[in-house]
Amino acid sequence: MKKNEKALVIIFGGTGDLAQRKLYPSIFQLYKKGYLKENFAVIGTARRPWTDEYYREVVKDSIDGMYDEQTVATEFASHFYYQSHNVTDTNHYKTLQALAQSLDEKYQIGGNRLFYLAMSPRFFGTICDHLKSQQIMTETGYNRVIVEKPFGRDLASATELNDEISKSFPEEDVFRIDHYLGKEMVQNIAALRFGNSIFNSMWNNRYISNIQVTLSEALGVEERAGYYETAGALRDMIQNHVLQIVALLTMSAPVSFTDTDIRNAKINALKCLKIYSPEEVKENFVRGQYGPGNGLIGYREEAQTAEDSMTETFVAGKLMVNTMDMAGVPIYVRTGKRMKTKATRIDVVFKQVPNNVFEDSDLRHDVLTINVDPEPSLSLQLNSKTIGQGFDFDTHHLNLDYKLSPEQRAAIPEAYEKLILDAMQCRASNFAHWKELQCSWKFVDAIRQAWDQNVDQVAFPNYDCASMGPKASDDLLAKDGNHWEFNC
Ligand code: NAP
Repeated sequence: MKKNEKALVIIFGGTGDLAQRKLYPSIFQLYKKGYLKENFAVIGTARRPWTDEYYREVVKDSIDGMYDEQTVATEFASHFYYQSHNVTDTNHYKTLQALAQSLDEKYQIGGNRLFYLAMSPRFFGTICDHLKSQQIMTETGYNRVIVEKPFGRDLASATELNDEISKSFPEEDVFRIDHYLGKEMVQNIAALRFGNSIFNSMWNNRYISNIQVTLSEALGVEERAGYYETAGALRDMIQNHVLQIVALLTMSAPVSFTDTDIRNAKINALKCLKIYSPEEVKENFVRGQYGPGNGLIGYREEAQTAEDSMTETFVAGKLMVNTMDMAGVPIYVRTGKRMKTKATRIDVVFKQVPNNVFEDSDLRHDVLTINVDPEPSLSLQLNSKTIGQGFDFDTHHLNLDYKLSPEQRAAIPEAYEKLILDAMQCRASNFAHWKELQCSWKFVDAIRQAWDQNVDQVAFPNYDCASMGPKASDDLLAKDGNHWEFNC
């Protein structure tokens, strides 16, 4: 892969949590691996009156423990510059323009600019307007913008936000982060499906019984309660991460493995998502909120939450993607906070053989399990004969746990590291296209509206901390004669 990228990265929200916890360490990894060398610089902006020197200390703190020699950290941090900047103040963009120009010359960057909007989306419009009107976008190199979630809170607000951004940036230069798309095993879905004839030929409604996707978190809302109260699990997790994974699991084979073809395949899958009526939402979706349990406080007792809050911290649902290949295959998804364990796991449950010639033996479903987090691994559950006399069956697993050494584990790029490099090298398929978001918001809005009308008449709280969610989530699958494969 090409090394020594030429890039000026301008981070709006340079003093914030995301920048310090994710962006600076990721940029440092790119530097250590040689993707960034001499020809890069970073400008951090925010209102705080920091100096370059102070900013560089903050950057060094954020990469603490990631280097052996102090000189490496100091040399890396010397590429960082700080500008105190209020994004609503036009004059500040004039200063930014001059600083960007001088750094471009100093580091011979050739006009490539990556604008990272690591702050509240309500500022995205004004930032993008100013980047264009104040000529901070160049004519000699690329101008790409990375935006963070949340991208709207419904289709109307997402459209408004997209319209604001697209006045300055064409779609091909907008990189909407969904960090799940940067995860190794999420990227592996396409490799497994389209690189193996065994799965490629069986990945359809003739052979798949159902697909299950679980994104569970052990933590509660922590310090994000203020935001979470207005979002909930449906907007925070289903609309983006879960539906992106569903798109990868259900899309038809792309014509080629290029950005355009992969995105088209994902868009087509999401267009085929069945949009539910309120009555269908009641049938197919479950919401939950954690109450106290196992020594932990409930959601309504957390700081910054209302004592009668109706915000859902758990969602389970049954989705139908009505493509020719996937129609009729239930896709069960669930996500929640304060669940028993932190994990991201996909189970593809295959149909049983149409005719069990081993009449005395109960054969189980073959299941392909893709563990995304915390450890990347694959497992294929099969029926096979027990060793010895007779002809008894047992369930066996072919396991691929990658057996990573500590060095190999350390070398796995963090999602943000991958995605920042993708944006620099213009690999857009690991970012959500606007048309994908349109489809996913349409789907989510229908559920939200039904819940706002209280069609399911749910009472919160309805699950204990450190559990796998409300009983209704198990009942959802049981109605179809299925069960969650992942039941820790
Ligand atoms: P944060 O810690 O609150 O940071 C917000 C940043 O915006 C700060 O640097 C703040 O600095 C700056 N800011 C606020 N108003 C400003 C203004 N008028 N002009 C210039 N700068 C201003 O938030 P965060 O957690 O880093 O999150 C940033 C964005 O990423 C949010 O949209 C969030 O939803 C999203 N996100 C964050 C995470 C995460 O792990 N943190 C994960 C996913 C998505 P000053 O106060 O110095 O101005």
